[in-house]
Amino acid sequence: MKGRTHLTFSILLGVISLFFIDLGVKEHAIFFLLVVLASFMPDIDHPDSAIGRKIRPISFLVKLLAGHRGVFHSLLIPLTIFLVLFQMGYTIYGIAILIGYLSHLLLDSFNHSGVAWFFPLPARIKGAIKSGGFTDFILFLVFLSLSVILGIFLMLR
Ligand SMILES: [Zn+2]
Repeated sequence: MKGRTHLTFSILLGVISLFFIDLGVKEHAIFFLLVVLASFMPDIDHPDSAIGRKIRPISFLVKLLAGHRGVFHSLLIPLTIFLVLFQMGYTIYGIAILIGYLSHLLLDSFNHSGVAWFFPLPARIKGAIKSGGFTDFILFLVFLSLSVILGIFLMLR
């Protein structure tokens, strides 16, 4: 999926999450930001992605070592980050990272190349949606509209 589709999907999930967590304004802001940032993290293994372009040398190295849609597109990385944050007592932020990261893997699972969720096991979950194609664009519009509508509800709450 295109970066904007990942972005709007993570914003939507971030907004929905805020209906269910009861923290201060500052924590809500951090939670939301982490969801959105984490949704870009898997594509660190792709130098031409939105995040990859910003840190090209690192991204190039990661792709060389781990391959595109390898370990960074699996449960291994987000679960490790979650466990570290959980150990440090930041469970709620670990959950934010999980939501954002898994939202990316979920959307990528609908693409042709799919996602090996249980890396190093080779089995991939894949779909038929073309990255940058018509369905990708429709999903972007749906996620954007729902984010705006629910965002307004959240603020009026
Ligand atoms: Zn990806």
